[in-house]
Formats: sequence, structure tokens, C-alpha cells
Amino acid sequence: MTFYRGCEVIGLARTEAGVDVTLSGGRSLCSDFLVGCDGGHSLVRKSVGIEFPGWDPTTSSLLAEVEMTEQPELGIHRNAFGIHSFGKVMYEMRNGEIFYGDGGPVRVMVTEQHVGPNSQPTLRDLSEALIAVCGTDYGIHSPIWISRFTNTTRQAASYRKGRVLLAGDAAHVHAPDGGQGLQIGLQDAANLGWKLVQVVKGTSPESLLDTYNTERHPVAAHVLRNTMASVALRRENERTKALRESMSELLGMEEPRRRFTAMISGLDIHYELGKGHPMLECRMPDLDLSTRNGPLRVLDLMHDARPVLLNFGDPGGFDISPWGHRLLLVYAKCDGP
Ligand SMILES: Cc1cc2nc3c(=O)[nH]c(=O)nc-3n(C[C@H](O)[C@H](O)[C@H](O)COP(=O)(O)OP(=O)(O)OC[C@H]3O[C@@H](n4cnc5c(N)ncnc54)[C@H](O)[C@@H]3O)c2cc1C
Repeated sequence: MTFYRGCEVIGLARTEAGVDVTLSGGRSLCSDFLVGCDGGHSLVRKSVGIEFPGWDPTTSSLLAEVEMTEQPELGIHRNAFGIHSFGKVMYEMRNGEIFYGDGGPVRVMVTEQHVGPNSQPTLRDLSEALIAVCGTDYGIHSPIWISRFTNTTRQAASYRKGRVLLAGDAAHVHAPDGGQGLQIGLQDAANLGWKLVQVVKGTSPESLLDTYNTERHPVAAHVLRNTMASVALRRENERTKALRESMSELLGMEEPRRRFTAMISGLDIHYELGKGHPMLECRMPDLDLSTRNGPLRVLDLMHDARPVLLNFGDPGGFDISPWGHRLLLVYAKCDGP
């Protein structure tokens, strides 16, 4: 595999045989397929004209690591604009080296009074936002980094247009509530990766790639929905506060809590595979197995990212020779249910 680093994609053209990609500096690359993993502003998505419907931001926050001359009250706070927080970063940079201790910079998050512009935020933006919320900017200086995030919520209408596919934030953006964006992006990649290999090698028909959209689009749609709900619950007014308290009561109960935990962690994801065996569409349990190579757990067998066939019956019951190079066959016993 070849990695080209420090290259900017500035254009692309779909051809009969694949995709021609133009890089800054005038170079170009040709490929059979192209996967745009180029973030929420994806040039790949825009270039092939995949729609990105959704909702513009209603709130924005600044996130930064800065030095402060005054000491803010550490922790998470709420005010009429939303949440803000201060946390001590337990390291310092000295001459390009990291030293751990308790004297490091402060990690700040502050909700802005109005949705900020789509430009690189500055120390002045952070100062103004802090003064609006706290009445002081605590003497911020020497920023290590400053970024802005919003609750823009959008999803690509389709994750595939011919030989161009999208994954990660290029396919879906939403508020960071619950920390779900990176994980669903990685799941996209895991879902698409093996399918692309199958198709490129000619083992499977190109139509296999359509299952990528069928399986993954609903997952992100669900995350868009739960993050929008989460942002709505953060609003600072009496009615929303009442709703938040009701939600808290609900989540104090076992079943709703299990459901929400499974939803946010992604453990409830299943793909519609039709009717059949009662375990079809279920998550594989991490069973304790006895194998010829000693005790193992099911998830230990998944590390190679290859399909695993567990045979709890007689050895020799399956002939997998046509797929032997792609499939791990394990004879096992399991004492559990
Ligand atoms: C405050 C905050 C907290 C978050 N916390 C979590 C969390 O706890 N857990 C979680 O799962 N997710 C979290 N997320 C979401 C997560 O950061 C994103 O979903 C994730 O980074 C998206 O990864 P990506 O690779 O798809 O896109 P990006 O991280 O946006 O990467 C895209 C890359 O493509 C490059 N690129 C763009 N255009 C071009 C071009 N034309 N040519 C070449 N390269 C290009 C960019 O330079 C960039 O390196 C958080 C997000 C925010 C804002």
C-alpha cells in the first residue's frame, strides 16, 4: 500500500474505468475507486454532487488550551448560553518537550452567545466569549490551540455515487454530544473496507457496495437524531430543565438506561438481514470457548478482521476449502448457553 502524505486533493473526475484525482502542484492519480474521508467540508462529496441535507448550526462553542493569569473555578458550569468548563491539563511544554505535573495550561470550553463565523477562531474570539459568560477572560494568553465546533447536523443523501464513496464526517456531521462521530466513522470504514477488497479483487459483484449505504446510512441517521435531542436538552430554560429532569428519572431505570447506553456506545447496532435464524442481526456474544489451542474468547478471534466460522459440532462437518484463505474456521466447545 502506498501513502501519499501532505497532498491536497483539488479536483476529481469520474471516468468509465474509475476516478482521476488532481492534487495541488498539478500531479494526478487514477484509481478504480475513491473513498472520500475528507471531513465535513468534503471536497469529494461536493465534486460528485452528493447532496448533504440537514440543519444549520443553532449553537457554537470554542474549545482551547491556553495559559491563564487568573485561576477559574475548575469543572463544568451552566449559564443562559449553555455549558462552559475549565480543566487543568496536567502537562507543560518546555522547549518542545512534555513535562507532566500540575502546572500545565487550562482546557477551556465556552458556548458562544451567537453562532460563530466559519473561520479560524482567534484568542480575541475566546476572550470575548469568556467575558460574555464569566465577566472576565481570566487573563488568557499563549494559546496552544483554539477550535470551534457547532451543532451543524447533516448527512449525505447517499454514501455512494458510482465508484466514489464517502465515509466518516464526509458522510455525516452532528454535535459532539456522546462522542459518537469518530466511532461511527471507523465503523463505516470497517464496513466498507472488506467489501471494497472483495469487489476490487473481483470476488464479489459491485452491487455488494450498495449494502454499505443500506447498512451504514441508518446508523448515522440515528446518531443525528440522538445528538439533536441531546442539544435540545441542553437548552437553558425552565421547560427544558423540566424535560431534562424527567429524562434523568427515566434514565434512572434499568431498561431505559440499558437502551441509551447501547445506543450511545453503538452496541445496539444491527443490520437488517431478513428473517431466518433467531440470532440473525444479533450482536455476537463474547463467549468463553474451549479450543484446540486452549481457552479463548470470541472477540480474541476477531483481531485479524476476518470472518470467523465457529463450529460447535463435529470437526470436519464443514468443507470451507473454497473460502479457506478468507475465513477462519475454529472448532470450539462452549459450556455456557
Ligand atoms: C469537540 C469535539 C469532541 C469530539 N469528541 C468525540 C469523541 O469523544 N468520540 C468520537 O467518536 N468522536 C468525537 N468527535 C467527532 C470526531 O472528532 C469526528 O467525527 C472525527 O474526527 C471525524 O473523522 P474523519 O476522519 O471522518 O474526518 P476529519 O477528522 O475531519 O479528517 C478529515 C481529514 O481530511 C483532510 N482533508 C480534507 N480535505 C482534504 C483535501 N481536499 N485534500 C486532502 N486532505 C483533505 C483533513 O486535513 C483531515 O485530516 C468530537 C468532535 C468534536 C468537535
